[in-house]
Amino acid sequence: MSGFGKGVLGFLLARPLIALAIAAVVVGVLWLHSRHQKTPVTHREQSVGLTEAQQMQLGDEQYAKTLRKDRAQIVSSGPGYAEVQRVAKRIEAVAARDKPHFVWKVTLLRTNEANAYCLPGGKIVVYTGILPLTKNDAGLATVLGHEVAHATAEHVAERIERQHLTEVAAAIIAGGVAFTPSQYAHVIALLGVGGAAASLPFSRSQESEADHIGLVYMARAGYDPHQAVAFWKRMLKASQGKEPPEFASDHPSDKHRVEHIVAWLPEAERAYTANRSN
Ligand SMILES: [Zn+2]
Repeated sequence: MSGFGKGVLGFLLARPLIALAIAAVVVGVLWLHSRHQKTPVTHREQSVGLTEAQQMQLGDEQYAKTLRKDRAQIVSSGPGYAEVQRVAKRIEAVAARDKPHFVWKVTLLRTNEANAYCLPGGKIVVYTGILPLTKNDAGLATVLGHEVAHATAEHVAERIERQHLTEVAAAIIAGGVAFTPSQYAHVIALLGVGGAAASLPFSRSQESEADHIGLVYMARAGYDPHQAVAFWKRMLKASQGKEPPEFASDHPSDKHRVEHIVAWLPEAERAYTANRSN
């Protein structure tokens, strides 16, 4: 240590109150920058830098961009449209209890890609290509419950925080220029927008948490949670085919995924029964 360093250390050791005050300021600054909260359903402690309003803005901007780009593919009538609206409405009502400020909206896009996603703040996109896989309302509720759980558990904001990109994301939201093109691309990739080749998948533990929360959400919305097991088994089978669905590449459905979901079933069944007796 340099003589100067030794001097500073000696000064602080001799004056513990000043050292304590400095530590308190440092911790206080970090505390200000991130909110400490618990995830819905799983009650995991997490730390998130972006506010709900900032997350909504980030998601809404991306949503508007997608709808502009794929305007010709928007489906606004027919049985697929009706099913997506019907199921999303019930899942959104459940998710809104955990995130009352989010503004929920779903759009169905005509594309063969088997995928769906929910942006931070509650904007959902479903591709028609996933409907043959979800097969019925409960199957679609499994997918929407899972995707919406990524939003209510603030998984994107959490990833942004972990990668020390909160300031960059805040600058993007504010329309500022305090970021490089690669930082911008990185934040957009973290949104996990399905279909974008550059999108970064959620972590394994976030995927598993979205399965858990999603299962309870679908049950609270009045869908039999056993149908989720059937859906993930269908996914497992489909992912072993020649051309696995895109949803399967972000959501590798192995034996363990199905086992975990089976283990959460009793909790989901209680939610399902409580919902039916209401
Ligand atoms: Zn997921």
